[in-house]
Amino acid sequence: MRTRTGERLPANDMVNDSRLKVVIVGGGTAGWMTAAALVKLLPTRCQVHLVESEAIGIVGVGEATLPHIRGFNEKLGIDEADFMARTRATFKLGIEFRDWARHGDSYIHPFGTFGSGQGELDFHHYWNKARQEGLAVPPMNDFSMAVTMAYMNRFALPDPDPSLLESTFNYAYQFDATLFAPYLRRLAEKMGAFRTEGRIVDIELDGESGNVRAARLESGERVEGDLFIDCSGFVSLIMGKAFNEPFEDWTQWLPCDRAVAMPCQTQTPLAPYTSAIAMPAGWRWRIPLQHRTGNGYVYSSSFTTDEIAREALIGAVEGEPIAEPRVLKFQAGRRKRSWVGNCIAVGLSSGFLEPLESTSIYLIQAAITGLVELFPEREISSIDRDEFNRLIDAEYDWIRDFLILHYHATERSDTPFWDYVRTMDVPDSLLEKIELFRRRGRIVKHREGLFLDASWVAVYLGQRVLPEGHDRRADLIAQSTLLQNMQALRTTIREKAERMPDHRSHIERYCPMAEAA
Ligand SMILES: Cc1cc2nc3c(=O)[nH]c(=O)nc-3n(C[C@H](O)[C@H](O)[C@H](O)COP(=O)(O)OP(=O)(O)OC[C@H]3O[C@@H](n4cnc5c(N)ncnc54)[C@H](O)[C@@H]3O)c2cc1C
Repeated sequence: MRTRTGERLPANDMVNDSRLKVVIVGGGTAGWMTAAALVKLLPTRCQVHLVESEAIGIVGVGEATLPHIRGFNEKLGIDEADFMARTRATFKLGIEFRDWARHGDSYIHPFGTFGSGQGELDFHHYWNKARQEGLAVPPMNDFSMAVTMAYMNRFALPDPDPSLLESTFNYAYQFDATLFAPYLRRLAEKMGAFRTEGRIVDIELDGESGNVRAARLESGERVEGDLFIDCSGFVSLIMGKAFNEPFEDWTQWLPCDRAVAMPCQTQTPLAPYTSAIAMPAGWRWRIPLQHRTGNGYVYSSSFTTDEIAREALIGAVEGEPIAEPRVLKFQAGRRKRSWVGNCIAVGLSSGFLEPLESTSIYLIQAAITGLVELFPEREISSIDRDEFNRLIDAEYDWIRDFLILHYHATERSDTPFWDYVRTMDVPDSLLEKIELFRRRGRIVKHREGLFLDASWVAVYLGQRVLPEGHDRRADLIAQSTLLQNMQALRTTIREKAERMPDHRSHIERYCPMAEAA
């Protein structure tokens, strides 16, 4: 094995070191997130060796994140302001959906809760009761601190005091995806991760166990390990190519399979949210960063061509383009198992769900959390492996249903794409969730993780899925009190948001962009 500077370690150092040797194949966002987490959190249990090829490069998109990333960064001891300055990041309070249920509709899926968080029931139950009783209630979005701040272009950090309205929102980052992995690389190498540059040309398997023995490089070098993490991206060098682990294709529910991406100069105010704007054969993202705006059209090749999509994107972006449009191809779905033998697939090598709700980096984080919690002793236990695969399956299934909801709950039939998603069959697990919400506004509970009740409420209502009944416990508040409270709450939310600094000036004070190094 080699040290960080490349020299070979004396053999007896290797013998004395009882830590598992983890080889990470690939140095994109998945590879360096995994490397940084393992060296930081399990320094006595593993040594980390990452192999990547600069000539192959990284996928280089993935600019919008979810609030969970803050927990990941904190565990790594990352200073937020430094991180944001060097990745040229902005704050993200949620995702705006334009034209999804009908042309002209717009709503935000906010990070945080609706209402003041103080009632006996979740706020949407009171709102729903008031709506059903014919009271003149404002839209649900007006009762979200995050949405109100987003539409006013305001930002301040949340207050830690849970009794305050200013604690009811959360935030994530929008950053330059090409700067995130290098940022983590510096951190991981400082903490002891080794890196080898080179193209892997072969994966050697053990004839008896089927486990990976080594990755062989173009240079002839062999990199051996006890545990291999496949972070090689869509090519899926170990899980897909060497192990031939089946891929579950979800294209029938999530038909988008391409994106054309093209950044442009920022000409509008710096929005603290990502936009997802419906297009004839998919949707378009708009992600404002400090130095530019990221744009891309995610579309289905069954319903349009690369050329039409490219032209549509060029026609839609709001600023001067700063790069040529680039087409990326993908397939919605996941590997049947993410941990097989002594290899764990993390990132695009394990599966992909389109970026509508910015979930890929979250899925990387979920896999790393599972890996750290179930990290093998000397022997790999099939019980740990099965539990890891169960956790990842649950994450993928939950996100899949949430994404399908956005498409299926539409009234649009104006293009073949929208007509297809509106009328397609959807998984039973999603139908059950929609039916439950339609009855009395109840949300199917998820034990932990992503997209809890407020997220589902935001998307159901934004997509015009409305409950037909209401939770009777909301009847305990008199109609007049309910309406009065709601009006007062709405006014207070607006006043509090108005007093916050605008997003750009907060960034200029807190984390103005700096050189990447
Ligand atoms: C259009 C699009 C938009 C997206 N938007 C978002 C978003 O907004 N938010 C979000 O969370 N995610 C988003 N994602 C997903 C996100 O980009 C990825 O999850 C993330 O970048 C992780 O990629 P990765 O590290 O798995 O793969 P990659 O970035 O592809 O890295 C693969 C690594 O493996 C190496 N490698 C491959 N083959 C070899 C070889 N033979 N030898 C040596 N090294 C090799 C490469 O050099 C590279 O270092 C988006 C993805 C797409 C396609």
